[in-house]
Amino acid sequence: MSDPLLQVDAVDLYYGDAQALSGVSLEIRTGEIVAIVGANGAGKSSLIRAIHGIEKPASGRIRFDGVDITAWPSYRTCEVGVGHVAEGRQVFPNLTVLENLEMGATLKRARGAEKRTLERVFTMFPRLSERRRQPAGTLSGGEQQMLAIGRCLMGQPRLIMFDEPSLGLAPAIVHDVFRIVRRLNEEGLTILLVEQNVTASLKIAHRAYVLENGRIELSGSGRELLDNDRVRQAYLGL
Ligand code: ATP
Repeated sequence: MSDPLLQVDAVDLYYGDAQALSGVSLEIRTGEIVAIVGANGAGKSSLIRAIHGIEKPASGRIRFDGVDITAWPSYRTCEVGVGHVAEGRQVFPNLTVLENLEMGATLKRARGAEKRTLERVFTMFPRLSERRRQPAGTLSGGEQQMLAIGRCLMGQPRLIMFDEPSLGLAPAIVHDVFRIVRRLNEEGLTILLVEQNVTASLKIAHRAYVLENGRIELSGSGRELLDNDRVRQAYLGL
């Protein structure tokens, strides 16, 4: 098996006095899809934000490809290949689709590859190509999610962390989002996936972790967690 691309080791994170992450350790190997499952408020977004460098852990270590990136600012974590598709899509509504995509390619690591990556994004998302001159705010929710994914791809990430990519989307589009996550992984991207659609995320995940009250309580293959009684009762309503 390959070395871990991402290693999170005993991370504690606080908002004021409130502890959001307690001793969180996990790893993601190159080529894996790893899902994080947990109830609202369990700390899933906080974990992603700590890895990205938006929140600073009080203690613990985060390593990316062997390099200690703990508490690096986000622009630096992006430069080494950490990608983040944030919850709620976060496109710039007044900029065109093309301008939004170009914003994703301002990283040094992406320079020189813009044209090729743009073609790749437009091949993957033909609707974005058709609408490239339209303000992003005029796109449907599903199209905005595709745009957010496309913008992240423009930065040449090695790891993409998805925070609730299917939230608020129609069922047919949710299916598309999972298909895209799988396709990106088949094309070589390593994926960290946080999804309220637990069954679908465990089905596509090679491995998964269950986060409860800021702690990792369980881990295993996607299949093992799908069959786990605790997961079935708490997250699958079975
Ligand atoms: P959700 O699915 O609802 O987004 P989550 O598992 O992603 O939940 P987080 O958003 O990481 O959980 O929140 C973990 C805990 O930290 C919660 O108790 C939340 O209220 C708290 N929290 C999150 N962001 C902040 C903040 N900026 N300031 C203070 N507390 C916060």
